[in-house]
Amino acid sequence: MTTPDRISDDNQTCDTLIRHVFLIDGSGGDPVVADVAIADGRIVAIGALETWQAAQVINAPGKVLSPGFIDVHTHDDTNVIRMPEMFPKLSQGVTTVVVGNCGISASPVTLKGDPPDPMNLLGQAGAFSYPTFASYVDAIAAAKPSVNVAALVGHTALRSNHMDRLDRAATDAEIMGMRDQLTEALEHGALGLSTGLAYGNAINAPTEEVLALAEPLAQYGAMYATHLRSEFADILDAMDEAFHIGKHARVPVVISHLKCAGVENWGRSGEVLAALELAEKHQHVGCDCYPYTASSSTLDLKQVTDTYDIQVTWSEPHPEQGGKLLADIAAGWQVDMTEAARRLMPAGAVYHCMSDDDVNRILRHPATVIGSDGLPNDPLPHPRLWGAFPRVLGYYSREQQLFSLAAAVRKMTGLSAQRFGLDDRGLVKVGYWADLVLFDAATIRDAATYTDPMQPAHGIDAVWVNGVLSYRGEGKKATGERAGRFLARKRIQAEETAA
Ligand SMILES: [Zn+2]
Repeated sequence: MTTPDRISDDNQTCDTLIRHVFLIDGSGGDPVVADVAIADGRIVAIGALETWQAAQVINAPGKVLSPGFIDVHTHDDTNVIRMPEMFPKLSQGVTTVVVGNCGISASPVTLKGDPPDPMNLLGQAGAFSYPTFASYVDAIAAAKPSVNVAALVGHTALRSNHMDRLDRAATDAEIMGMRDQLTEALEHGALGLSTGLAYGNAINAPTEEVLALAEPLAQYGAMYATHLRSEFADILDAMDEAFHIGKHARVPVVISHLKCAGVENWGRSGEVLAALELAEKHQHVGCDCYPYTASSSTLDLKQVTDTYDIQVTWSEPHPEQGGKLLADIAAGWQVDMTEAARRLMPAGAVYHCMSDDDVNRILRHPATVIGSDGLPNDPLPHPRLWGAFPRVLGYYSREQQLFSLAAAVRKMTGLSAQRFGLDDRGLVKVGYWADLVLFDAATIRDAATYTDPMQPAHGIDAVWVNGVLSYRGEGKKATGERAGRFLARKRIQAEETAA
């Protein structure tokens, strides 16, 4: 990497010059007015660059320039290859996605039939063609997605490769097979391991199975991310299990989409965050969160309830029911909700299962970074797929004043890159990759709703990925240049004390 300490006077040309912006650099520091120069994909100078020349000059007084947003929690595994435009993400200012969350990943995977639940969120059987992690890395290079891609390896995916049935614990021999595949992935730059222990196809994996599987992580400086075994009444036990796994494996832990789910669990976010803070004293832990009070996944009988709305988004046997409330479908069929859910499955759903207070408290916490958890293959996707990042800036920062704009940006850039080990990303800093987003702090907002979810956000003016202009706010169009790459893991360092 070339990091010029100072810029020599005779070298004041660059590819792109973005002038007179409010620079929010991703560190959490206050905005400053500055110009930013880009050459060969990297940021080469920041400051008052009045005498600089560039092939492309953008004058943007009054606009904010920040690092491109890092979506640390996605299920874009196969979409970055099948739909490399990645428009739902690019159009909201996202320049990097982390795939392989919740125990499900596209690689390394060899299916025996249909993908087991919830791997079907990533696509149908034909979308899984990466038997090794190396083959997945090659496929990303060939597809040239518009955003950068970093990847975790999913525990449920490994189970499905090695086990004849998933409703039991893995044997020692099966765990060894899973470890070999995890190791191959780590050798090729995987970020670490993810689990989704709440799901039916992983819930019978005892803690010991994950402890054994996680052992190779430390040697690669990798991490452990987990969709907890419970986000309902048993959440504290589930957090203890996650911390225990992280401690045993000697790696940082990220709790995915931290939430207090279920009406009887509302109001417990203080308790949950206290448990996180206690663990933080002894080991590296953090969490991500999406900025909505509804969750979304496959339809799950365990989550059927009449205490909040459940909207069915798709159903294989009953596609005509997509968009309707489960309670209405059940009433129409004159059956109870559980029976209706059974008839609809396999299906997808949005669960309005959280309280505003809990979501606010978790979003605001210094350990929290933003991940969308968007489901790109859902015909009626939860609006987080198109709106998560602008919603943090528009609704939560500007309107609700939950945190300053600079603090919000840090949760979507600098802290995210640090936590997930993304080298030279997440800050606007000389020598760093020029993943950048230009936006209007006064007008940025999410446009996607539960009923009309496929709407690009407002207020994003331009997005650069590795120095390449990839999206223009005027007309809300991708430029067609796709400059994303696969990002291999950098050894994850201890986080600085959170600001
Ligand atoms: Zn999850």
